[in-house]
Amino acid sequence: MKIYNTLTRKKEDFVPNVEGKVNMYTCGPTVYHFAHIGNLRSYIMEDVLEKMLRYSDYDVKRVMNITDVGHLASDADTGEDKMLKGAKRENKTVMEIAKFYTDAFFSDCAKLNIKTPDVVEPATNCIDNFIEMIEKLLKDGYAYQAGENIYFDTSKLDTYYVFGNQSEEELMVGVRDDVTEDENKKNKNDFVLWFTKSKFEDQALKWDSPWGVGYPGWHIECSCISMKHLGEYMDIHCGGVDNMFPHHTNEIAQSEAYLGHKWCNYWFHVHHLNDQSGKMSKSKGEFLTVSLLEEKGYDPLAYRFFCLQSHYRKPLIFSFDALDQATGTYKKLKKRIADLSKEGTADENAVKEYKAKFVEAVGNDMNTSMGITLVYDVLKADLDDVTKRAIIESYDYVLSIDLLKEDAQEAANDVDAELEAYVLAKIEERKAAKKEKNFALADAIRDELLEKGIVIKDTREGVVWERA
Ligand code: AMP
Ligand code: ZN
Repeated sequence: MKIYNTLTRKKEDFVPNVEGKVNMYTCGPTVYHFAHIGNLRSYIMEDVLEKMLRYSDYDVKRVMNITDVGHLASDADTGEDKMLKGAKRENKTVMEIAKFYTDAFFSDCAKLNIKTPDVVEPATNCIDNFIEMIEKLLKDGYAYQAGENIYFDTSKLDTYYVFGNQSEEELMVGVRDDVTEDENKKNKNDFVLWFTKSKFEDQALKWDSPWGVGYPGWHIECSCISMKHLGEYMDIHCGGVDNMFPHHTNEIAQSEAYLGHKWCNYWFHVHHLNDQSGKMSKSKGEFLTVSLLEEKGYDPLAYRFFCLQSHYRKPLIFSFDALDQATGTYKKLKKRIADLSKEGTADENAVKEYKAKFVEAVGNDMNTSMGITLVYDVLKADLDDVTKRAIIESYDYVLSIDLLKEDAQEAANDVDAELEAYVLAKIEERKAAKKEKNFALADAIRDELLEKGIVIKDTREGVVWERA
């Protein structure tokens, strides 16, 4: 497999630390609100990555955190804790908010066929791990206490901006909301590992620590949670592009300072879903959710199909027109597959050959649109229907758009259409029998229909039928 690695800015052959095994980490949601369909674009593409690795026979262990504390209104450690903001907005406790939106997140993921990672760990479960890591960073001189908070000292590193040669200004694009300077920081890029004294006295969740009662910064959670479950070496870490700076930059800084060696080899970043007015974001207030798409009558999997049609390293613009188009294409494709006969046995050699084509095409930096093209190629290929079904079923493990699952409504419509055609033909036959004064045959046709639960009635407007 080939993956574009943000760390080296190159498409590289993917080689894990241990042959055949992959340690994978994903930044999870901040559960203060519903996930918007932009967030879910990232999770869909990360799901494709995980499934593509498994499809290529890697033994994958994937870990994801749930941010239920420490993510402040700005990614640069300023403003109110997002969780507290959510709790105030809904007049609930922070833990109630966390539970509600974590459940909502996984329910959205299920609708989009996004597999739940092997390990899901909320940040509030790991306070002791955070404290232990911060203690070591302090001991090794990578952290300092100022204004009663604990900061990471970025001046202790040879390189802080690891994601290439962007200017400081370009990197700051990822920093959301307004940023106010913290006077306690020795260097502009230093970040908080542990807050004890904060501007917001009403911070809901606080824990005892060697530095006083307080709460962890946001970045520390991903370093700790990944090391807790995946150890000191990680193969691939993913998130949306906005996570590159400061979040992932800070994760690398503190993890490598703590470990004393390189931490993660591949960084996979999904570009944003934008609406016509710009980036979709929760802090904007109004945003599109999976439930909203459903309320408007869309199948969530048509949204997944829409995402798969374009490459994860390009921004994607959402519009309802584009989703309508994707829905139409998706439905037609499913119909073509539903029409394939189920009789016979699949040609296993052909299935193998076509699986290899998929690995080659989609495994080339998650080229999902090529994956869809391959489905059409299979439909056109000189293969029998059952073999086509078997190949498409295997592709759908990665694409996960229920290509072989018959739409219940469509199936019901198909049955209705078939029944109607049959009844109308019988009515015509009966009409002809009556015309020829063959009343015995006409009655026999009526009885035959009745046996099938169909009642016909002669009315002034003609013959009508209904189910008995
Ligand atoms: P959050 O819940 O804000 O922590 O974000 C969850 C994930 O969604 C992170 O990986 C973000 O980088 C990603 N993300 C945020 N906004 C977008 C967007 N508009 N398009 C795609 N991914 C996004
Ligand atoms: Zn993270």
